[in-house]
Amino acid sequence: MSDFPLPILFIMAVFFTMWLILRKFHRIEQRKRALPELNAYLYANNQTEPRCSACESTEFKDEGLSHGKDERRIVSCAKCDTLLYRIVPPERAE
Ligand SMILES: [Zn+2]
Repeated sequence: MSDFPLPILFIMAVFFTMWLILRKFHRIEQRKRALPELNAYLYANNQTEPRCSACESTEFKDEGLSHGKDERRIVSCAKCDTLLYRIVPPERAE
């Protein structure tokens, strides 16, 4: 390794860091896609109104799946950040 020119080591380090970051985002996205839809979530937790499955909070926040304006919304708890369920617009339901 000591024979390696420094710029090549630097470029390798940059690519390795980018790969780690991409892998982290990919895993978060996979977890979001695997979330149940609202009805399935209510059924699984025996609820009629959605509540956080971790802390019972009824305060939620939602974000787009892949970007802010994405119509597929991911709902998470506003208090403890637990990912709860997703909302799929009817015309794009899977
Ligand atoms: Zn919570």
